Amino acid sequence: DEDALLLDADGEPLDAPAHVAAPPVLAIIGRPNVGKSTLVNRITRSREAVVEDVPGVTRDRVSYDAEWNGTDFTIVDTGGWEKDARGIHRRVADQAELAVDEADAVVFVVDGTVGATAVDEAVVRMLRRKKKPVFLVANKVDSEAQMIEVHALWNLGLGRPYPVSAVHGTGTGDVLDAAVEAMPETAQHGGLVPSGGPRRVALVGRPNVGKSSMLNKLAGSDRVVVDPVAGTTIDPVDEHIELGGETWRFVDTAGIRRRQHMASGSEYYAMLRTQRAVDKAEVAVALLSVDEPISEQDVRIIQMAVDSGRALVLAYNKWDLLDDERRYYLEREVKRDLGHVTWAPRVNVSARTGWHKDKLAPALKRSLDNWERRVPTGKLNAFLGEIVAAHPHPVRGGKQPRILFATQPSSRPPKFVLFTTGFLDAGYRRFIQRRLRETFDFSGTPIEVSMRVRE
Ligand code: GDP
Ligand code: GDP
Repeated sequence: DEDALLLDADGEPLDAPAHVAAPPVLAIIGRPNVGKSTLVNRITRSREAVVEDVPGVTRDRVSYDAEWNGTDFTIVDTGGWEKDARGIHRRVADQAELAVDEADAVVFVVDGTVGATAVDEAVVRMLRRKKKPVFLVANKVDSEAQMIEVHALWNLGLGRPYPVSAVHGTGTGDVLDAAVEAMPETAQHGGLVPSGGPRRVALVGRPNVGKSSMLNKLAGSDRVVVDPVAGTTIDPVDEHIELGGETWRFVDTAGIRRRQHMASGSEYYAMLRTQRAVDKAEVAVALLSVDEPISEQDVRIIQMAVDSGRALVLAYNKWDLLDDERRYYLEREVKRDLGHVTWAPRVNVSARTGWHKDKLAPALKRSLDNWERRVPTGKLNAFLGEIVAAHPHPVRGGKQPRILFATQPSSRPPKFVLFTTGFLDAGYRRFIQRRLRETFDFSGTPIEVSMRVRE
C-alpha cells in the first residue's frame, strides 16, 4: 500500500526511524507439559507471522516478539527442550537457569491441577538465588473449582499465584500486567541515540572463535566499562573502545567476558545472546576461526545479523594458525558457505598477536556509511531507467511487468520500493538488487528491495 510512504515537502520520502532498541526479555519456564508452549502461543498470537514481502528471507530467531498494552518484549520459550528426559529433574532446572540468566523477568508455570512437585521446588530454589522478578502461574485452572490447589501454591514463597487457563485464555492478562510492569522499558534498554554518541558494535561468533581475546586486544589498557542502564536487572555491560581515531560502543561485552558457566544448551543461549547484542548494535563484527571448518552455527550467526538488518564485517580470526593447506580449504568453504554475503568486508586478523587489528575500524566505518546511505529519488530512477532499458523484464504469459518508479524510503539498512505494473520475478529482483549494490556501493550492508504492484 502506497499510503504507507510519507513524503516531505520536496516529494522525498521521510526516513523511517531505524528500529534498534532491544526489548526486555521474559522467560517462560516450568516442567514439561505444564502448558508453557500453549501459554506462549496464547501471548504471541497474531504476532507470530512476520510479514515479509521479500522472498527468500529466512527468520532464524530463537525467541518470539510479543506485545502487551503497548509494551514490546521478547519471550523465551523453554518448552520443547526437555524431551530427552535423562535425569529430568536436573535438566529442567539447568535449562530453566540458562533461560533465567538471560531474562529480565520470569514466568514460572506449574500445573495448577497437580500443585507443586519436587522438580518445581528445585526450580524455586534456583529462582531464589537469581533475584529476578518472578511470576508464578498456576496453569490449567479451567474452572473455579480448581482454586483450592492454587491457594496452596502460596507455600512456594514466590508471592501470589496467578491462576491461568492457557487453553481458554483466562488469567493471562493479570500476569502480563504484572510482568510488563516489572520489566525495564524498551526504550531504556539499549535504545539508540540516532545522532551523536559512539556507534554501536556487536562482536559475535560461536564459542571459542576468539571474541574475548579480540575484545582484550582492541580494548588494550584503556578499557572503559559503561554502566548498565539504571533499572535493568541484567548486566549487559557495554565498553567504549577507541579504534581508528573514533570511539565505539561494544555492546553486551559482559556476556563475552563472562566464561560460559554451563555447557549444556549453550548453543541456544549463544544464539539468544547474539540476537540481543545484534538488536542493540548498528554493526556486527562476526568472528570466524580459520583453524576450523566454517560451521553451521557460524553461518546462522551471520544470517542473524543480516536478517536483523545490521551492517556487517566478517573477521577471520586466528590467522596466525593458518597453513597453506588449511588456507586452500578455507577459501573453498568461504565460497560455498558464505557466498551470499560476499558484500561484507572481510578482515583477516589474529586476536593473539594483534595482527591487522587496525583494519577493523576502516571496515566498520565503510559498512556503516553504506548502511546509512540514502540514494536520492532522482538518481535512483535514472539508474533504474538505464538498467531496465538495457535489460527489460522477461515476458511472462504475454505480459511484461514494468517498473514505474522507485524510492528508497529508509536507510539503516537501505530499503527500496519498486512500484510496478505486475509481479517481478525473484530472479529479476535479485538482478536489480545486485546492480543497486554495484552502482551505489552497498558493501557491508544488507539491502532490501520490495514491490508495490499497481493494478
Ligand atoms: P509444555 O511442555 O509446558 O510446553 O506444555 P504444552 O503447552 O505442550 O501443553 C501440554 C499439555 O497441556 C497439552 O496437551 C495442552 O493442551 C495442555 N494444556 C495446556 N494449557 C492448558 C490449560 O490451560 N488447560 C488444560 N486443561 N490443558 C492445558
Ligand atoms: P570466545 O569464546 O569467542 O570468547 O573465545 P576466546 O577469546 O576465549 O578464545 C578461545 C581460544 O582461542 C583461547 O584459547 C584463545 O587463546 C584462542 N585464540 C583466540 N584468538 C586467537 C588467535 O588469533 N590466534 C590463536 N592462535 N589463538 C587464538
